[in-house]
Amino acid sequence: MDRKKRQKIQKGVRITIQLVFLLLAPAVFTSAFAGVKYIFTQFAASQMLEWSSFFKALLGICLFTMVFGRFFCGYACAFGTLGDLLYMFSTFIQKKTKKKLPKIPERISYYARKVKYLVLAGVAVACLLGVYDKFRGSSPWDVFSRLTSLQLPGRDYFVGIIILLIIMVGMIWEERFFCKYLCPMGAIFSLLPILSAVLYRRERQSCINGCSACKRQCPVSLNIDGDTKDSGECIQCNQCLITCPKDNIHTGIKVRGNEVWLIVGKALLLLLVCFLLQLTR
Ligand code: SF4
Ligand code: SF4
Ligand code: SF4
Repeated sequence: MDRKKRQKIQKGVRITIQLVFLLLAPAVFTSAFAGVKYIFTQFAASQMLEWSSFFKALLGICLFTMVFGRFFCGYACAFGTLGDLLYMFSTFIQKKTKKKLPKIPERISYYARKVKYLVLAGVAVACLLGVYDKFRGSSPWDVFSRLTSLQLPGRDYFVGIIILLIIMVGMIWEERFFCKYLCPMGAIFSLLPILSAVLYRRERQSCINGCSACKRQCPVSLNIDGDTKDSGECIQCNQCLITCPKDNIHTGIKVRGNEVWLIVGKALLLLLVCFLLQLTR
């Protein structure tokens, strides 16, 4: 099968899986994030951790990520899917108008990625000081959580709505803006140890001179084989692998030509995990 056809099939499969998760399990992100807040709050109150649904959600998604990489981020997170849909719309408009939005310079982007750790630290401090609930109305995640449970956020969420709208502008501007720069869950995932067999690597010695197609196609702009292998920033979207004209990119699991089946298998397994954790509708 030629490369273009493979790319089309894979893109179709990805968006289908994303929409299925958006419909069937839209609250996984917010439940896992609630698990993070729960841990810090219990810690501040010197209380034991109990098997609450939020704690189980966080643990389940983290364990899945340690074994399969950040597949959840690439295919199943409602917040990530929202970003992808907005960016798709933005790319469509940019193509139609033949006007391109300016890219964030690489150096700024590199340092901006660290902001998500500060966001995570801010959430931790607010929970440890017991003041997180006072900021509930300013939390874009709480607004998003209400929307995914089909409830309209009230007036007390005004600040949170404005922040969510600003984040959405960022998502329109740059692919995976929130994931790269701001997501506290992304900060946690990027610090987890991930099974090396599922990480992407490239055979640099066989690369075409001056080619950077894989990096340009990567939603999180990774320089594969440098930061991908070690950083845990990779969202396992497979985009680099199907882009490379020399088939130079692979994971430790060789499934040449059967990548789509591997992706579908992982999606079904993740759906089963969500079902067992009672995170599906
Ligand atoms: S980085 Fe955060 S928002 Fe992005 S896909 Fe992962 S959990 Fe979702
Ligand atoms: S394009 Fe490749 S390196 Fe970039 S996020 Fe997707 S799978 Fe990871
Ligand atoms: S797309 Fe392939 S050939 Fe080009 S830089 Fe990436 S790995 Fe090398």
